[in-house]
Parts: sequence; C-alpha cells; structure tokens
Amino acid sequence: MATQPQVISTGDKSWINRHETFTQPVADIFTILNGDSGNILQDYNATVGALQTLIGKAINEGKTLRALGGCWSFSDIAATDGWLVNTMGMNILFTISSTSISTRYSGNREQLLFAQCGNSVQELNRYLEVHGRSLKTSGASNGQTIAGAIATGTHGAAFNFGATQDFVAGLHIIISPQRHVWLERASRPVVSDTFIANLNTEIIRDDKLFNAALVGIGSFGFVHGVMIETEEKYLLEGYRQLVPFNDSLKHVMETLDFTNAPLPHGSEIPFHFQVLINQYDLKAGAFVTTMYKRKYAEPYFPPGNTPNQAGPGDDAPAYIGLLTDFVPAAIPILVNTLIKGQLKPSSWTGTSGEIFTNTDTRGKVLSTAMGIQLKDVITVNDILLQLNDNAHFPGVFAYRFVKQSDATLAFTRFAPTCVVELDGVQSDQTWNFYRAVWDELDARGIPYTFHWGKINNLNEQKVKDKYGEQRDHWISARNRLLPAESMNVFSSPPLKNLGLDIIV
Ligand SMILES: Cc1cc2nc3c(=O)[nH]c(=O)nc-3n(C[C@H](O)[C@H](O)[C@H](O)COP(=O)(O)OP(=O)(O)OC[C@H]3O[C@@H](n4cnc5c(N)ncnc54)[C@H](O)[C@@H]3O)c2cc1C
Repeated sequence: MATQPQVISTGDKSWINRHETFTQPVADIFTILNGDSGNILQDYNATVGALQTLIGKAINEGKTLRALGGCWSFSDIAATDGWLVNTMGMNILFTISSTSISTRYSGNREQLLFAQCGNSVQELNRYLEVHGRSLKTSGASNGQTIAGAIATGTHGAAFNFGATQDFVAGLHIIISPQRHVWLERASRPVVSDTFIANLNTEIIRDDKLFNAALVGIGSFGFVHGVMIETEEKYLLEGYRQLVPFNDSLKHVMETLDFTNAPLPHGSEIPFHFQVLINQYDLKAGAFVTTMYKRKYAEPYFPPGNTPNQAGPGDDAPAYIGLLTDFVPAAIPILVNTLIKGQLKPSSWTGTSGEIFTNTDTRGKVLSTAMGIQLKDVITVNDILLQLNDNAHFPGVFAYRFVKQSDATLAFTRFAPTCVVELDGVQSDQTWNFYRAVWDELDARGIPYTFHWGKINNLNEQKVKDKYGEQRDHWISARNRLLPAESMNVFSSPPLKNLGLDIIV
C-alpha cells in the first residue's frame, strides 16, 4: 500500500447504482484510498488534503463532485453528471481517548467512536461487537456507509430512539480547497481543543448548522468523518408473528400505546415495532415484528442464516424481487406464494449486528417510503387497499415506526413518524401504483414526506410544501457554511430539481 493517499481516476463515463434502478452518465469516477504511513491520524489528515486538492480541481474545471456511499439508494440522490467519488476505501476508525473529549461533554465517554466516512454499517457492527458495544439503531440492512446512511436519514423501527443520524455527535466536513471544519452542537459539546488540533481543523459549535448538515443529502460538503455515540452491547429478543389485523392491532399502530397489545410481551414497550401487510391474504393477519431490548448475556443462540427465507431483520426488498415473470392477473397468487415461503412466524435472540445483516436484493426491486403521522396510518392503509383493488401491486405494504428527528431535513419529521414502505418488483405496475398512491395522498390532503434515498416524485414545490420553513433553514445553513464555489461543486441535477441548490 502507498504511504500517501491515492486519488485514482477510473475514467468511467457511466455509473449505475447498486440495485440498478437507474444509469447516470458521468465525467469520471474517482476512487480514494488512504495512505499507509503507519500512523492512522497522519493518514486520515493526508486524505483530507487529497480531497481538498480534488475539490479545487473540480472548481477549476467547472465540475460537480459527489461522494458515493454504498450506492444503495434507489433514488438518484447520489448521482451527478460530474465527478463521483468512491469512498468505500476510506474506513479508518479511531477510539477516542479522554484528552480528545471536551470536559463539558455530558454523555458517557465510553460511547464515542470516530469513523471515517466510508466505514460501512457492517464494518462498524463488526468492530463494535468485538468491543462489547453496539449501534443504537440501523436500517434493516448493513451495506450503507456511515456517511451515506445518515445523509438520507436511514432508519430502522426504533420508535423510542430515532434514525441513524440521531446517534451522530459531530461531523468533520471538508467545505472547500482551503477549509475543513469540525461541526457539533453548541448545546452538546463533544471534542476538546486537542482533538481539533490533531485534525488540524477548526471548530464550529452551532445547533442549527449541525442539524442542517446531518441529513445533508450529499450536498453539505464532503463529510470526511463522523463521531457517533454507541451503546453497551445489548440483545434483541425478537418475534415475527401473524396477528389478526383487527381493531386491537390497528389501535397499536395508530397510537403506539402497547397496553394489552396482542404482542408476545403484552404491555411491555418494545424497542422495534414493524408491521407487514400482505394485501392478498388479509384474513391470515398481519406479520408483526417486535423486538425487545435485553441486557447482553451469554449463552444465547444467534439467528442462523436462512438463505431461502427472510432473516429476522430483513425488510421486503430482500426478497420481493423474487416475484418474476408475472402477468397482472397472477399477482395475488404469486405474492401469496412468495410471502408464505419467505415469512415464517419465528423468534430469535441476537445483537443488532447479528439481526440487521447484509441483505442483498434478489431480482430487481423498487422501493418508495413515505413518512406519515400516526393518526393517518389506518386511513393510508385503507387507501392502499382500495388502490390495490383497482390495479394489483406486485409487492407488499410495510409500516415501521421511528422517533422524530432533530435533523432539519429528516423525513422522519412527525412525532413520531410512521414510515409506509411499498417495496415492489421493478415494473410498470409498481410505478403506476406508486403514482396512484402519491396522487391520492395529495388529493386527500394527507401530509407525508419521502425517504430521500428511495423512489419519489419530489420537485421544488413539493419540497417547499412538505418542509416549509425547515427547507429555508437548510438552504440558509448551507449558504452559511459553504462558499458559493463549493455550493456549485456539491450541487447536482437532482439537487436542482429539488430546488435546494439555491445560492442566496
Ligand atoms: C436492499 C436495501 C435495503 C434498504 N433498507 C433500508 C432501511 O431499512 N431503512 C432505510 O432508511 N433505508 C433503507 N434503504 C435505503 C438506504 O439505506 C439509503 O438510501 C442510504 O442512504 C444508502 O446509503 P449508502 O451508503 O448506500 O449511500 P448512497 O446511496 O451511495 O448515497 C446516499 C447519499 O449519501 C451521500 N454521501 C455518501 N457519502 C458521503 C460523504 N462522505 N459525504 C457527503 N455525502 C455523502 C451521497 O452523495 C448521497 O447523497 C435500503 C436500500 C436497499 C437497496
């Protein structure tokens, strides 16, 4: 390995996202590799310099530049027509000594971990597992990078905690060829002057800026490092059950009131709550996944690998693409057969890293996810059922529940948010169903947001309608942090379409 960081031009003129939902013509794709000088702090800092040089070159040549995470987004949020940067090799991890922590830090010092942007969720889980710690939450799968996951607001079903960006305590952001900054909340200082000096950076403590940068959708500078707060390793005691889709379950979905809930531990409040509805077999009930947090203790028997069945943490994209060669009339039978084969009532115990494991999609899949208010959950489900009667959707309906986020552009903005997920086969039928759902929600005036990394029909007006003054705060924070030339570099055709590229 070279002692200096490598910026390798691949010469590629086209980029396709990991799950092949679109192809993007590009000017080039660069791979960045850290140097290996034998001193990881020196290597980390040298990579900052290499990235600053690349950003300077992009400014001079009038190119846009965008970091790629794991390329798992279904939407074009990671795409640009200029230069893309593969960050997967940027995976240094630092434990944080007490000299690096501010004396004013109010959290548990053991919980801090500093990760370079390209560490995948899987890599973080592996590291934490060995060190007796755990992520506070994650998505169902683990192929995202830490920076890519937080940039779109990746979530699981931790309705009392939140989404991935909600465990971030500090961000190291490269904002121009001359400047990189450490950004954290003024209300929650984390790092010491020593830490700032070690990174040769400058500190900004500002709640508004920090919250805006958290879900930065790739446009808030180059996030080079992320300080995360982890927690002592815990176990999740999980159950997937078929529960009658009756008033009792609907009440829990609409209120998250678990008193006498028809769930394995009755009134105990779970850590994770998720409902999957197969609209073609409602009589069988809904598949409800509940996971209860337990103190880590051995022995326990972690969930095994079930190659022909959905694993305990899997969401529908993991298997829905197995529906192939369908004619519309056959969709109900095919979905029923698939769901019967994939989803078995089961129970398990495991760590977060053992449960939310690497899912790859099989076949070609589309996914849209909308954040709604709890009170609208059953109305929205009724709408989905009605629309499905008109034209069969080759997929299923899923509901996950997530705490409201402080991040300015988090799509989990309702307190709490129910995320309605429609995972279906890549097909005209799926697209038509999505459009019909979005139109109907608009027509009925039901407020909803979109997961930034999933299929959506957002444009400038819709972003204005959905985010109101939060959108204005995000734009003005971006203008406060980035110089105009950098805002142009970290722009992209999708960002322009969202009307978020505004230079004030
Ligand atoms: C099979 C499958 C399952 C999924 N399950 C879930 C789930 O359970 N929950 C959920 O919420 N989502 C889920 N998703 C969506 C996915 O988690 C998000 O789209 C996530 O953002 C993808 O992360 P990534 O690392 O692949 O980033 P990418 O898709 O590569 O990029 C996402 C954004 O991050 C930006 N970015 C990446 N690195 C940096 C950096 N260093 N600096 C600045 N910006 C950066 C990119 O520019 C882009 O805007 C799933 C997707 C798939 C394909």
